[in-house]
Amino acid sequence: MPPAEHELIYANHERGFALASMRSPTRSRYYIQCALDEKIEDWPDERFWDELCLRLGPVTAAKVVRGPSFEKAIAPLRSFVSEPMRWGQLFLAGDAAHIVPPTGAKGMNLAVSDVTMLGEALRDYYDAGSSTGIDGYSARALARVWKAERFSWWFTSITHRFPDMDGFSRRCRWRSWIISRIAGGAEDACRKLCRTSAEQHEQQDLRQPLAALDGVLFDGMTIMSGGFGLSGNPESLIPEIRKAGVEDLTVISNNAGADGFGLWMLLESRQVAKMISSYVGENKLFEQQYLSGELALELNPQGTLAERYPRGRRGHPGLLYQDRRRHGGGRG
Ligand SMILES: Cc1cc2nc3c(=O)[nH]c(=O)nc-3n(C[C@H](O)[C@H](O)[C@H](O)COP(=O)(O)OP(=O)(O)OC[C@H]3O[C@@H](n4cnc5c(N)ncnc54)[C@H](O)[C@@H]3O)c2cc1C
Repeated sequence: MPPAEHELIYANHERGFALASMRSPTRSRYYIQCALDEKIEDWPDERFWDELCLRLGPVTAAKVVRGPSFEKAIAPLRSFVSEPMRWGQLFLAGDAAHIVPPTGAKGMNLAVSDVTMLGEALRDYYDAGSSTGIDGYSARALARVWKAERFSWWFTSITHRFPDMDGFSRRCRWRSWIISRIAGGAEDACRKLCRTSAEQHEQQDLRQPLAALDGVLFDGMTIMSGGFGLSGNPESLIPEIRKAGVEDLTVISNNAGADGFGLWMLLESRQVAKMISSYVGENKLFEQQYLSGELALELNPQGTLAERYPRGRRGHPGLLYQDRRRHGGGRG
């Protein structure tokens, strides 16, 4: 069956997760979340299609081409890492060493990466007699594995509904998604995320920036925004934040746009009270507001700022570093 869309569609419906993905012009792969104790016989094709279409919403459902399935399975969601990935002369790679839930689509990538690293290490051992590669294999592979595990676990937790999840935790997870997308260039995310239905977001089309921000903005909040110079700015979301009129914002971003562009628009509307930035040049308004005391500024070296993003998201309260001028340290 041809795919419903050329993009992946993740849906967080009140009845559970659904995913529409494509394999080829004539093959599609669809997922719906079900209970672990259900049997595949409980899901005849017609029931599956009906449930899928319900969760994907009417716009996408109209494009779903139904037909007989040729492979159907119930895949448990689990995360697992065997650490270290070497026991004596035994080297583990791929799913034998780690499992990620399929939501993040990382399992095959990890397996290929392990095998590439291990292959090179074994070649060095047998061809050049060097054991550096095989001795470092486990630590090197695990550094990558844990990143994928964390991502897949996080992504699964925000896209699925679990029995122990109440309305409060759903909202928290939903907000972590929005905030992380604002940080990572929300525009793209808004286009790709398509639909979700956490609480009041039910049936809203998140391709619309206004809908994506509904219920998210408030005075005094901190917004982390993508954008490096004039590229990667969330160009559709910034005007909506401006229209919403929220004030007293702290904005974390490399810079604050340039005349008439990017975060400059929020400076111009006097909605930003503080910038946490790295580069403040080429923006006269920024300069004026800072020099007049209207705008607070926390200036960070670019590497420090980049490092503070992931640490802040993981909840690390600070980042200590030593610089070459022998300053004591920096607050993260
Ligand atoms: C539903 C689902 C969707 C997924 N979607 C994606 C995706 O979109 N992207 C992605 O990157 N990953 C995806 N994955 C994960 C991906 O398929 C696996 O992580 C990947 O195939 C692992 O590769 P592997 O070589 O380690 O193990 P496998 O692919 O499982 O290969 C192990 C092989 O060993 C064979 N074998 C087992 N025991 C023996 C034995 N005793 N003797 C000989 N042979 C044996 C098995 O038959 C098998 O062929 C998905 C997984 C699932 C379940």
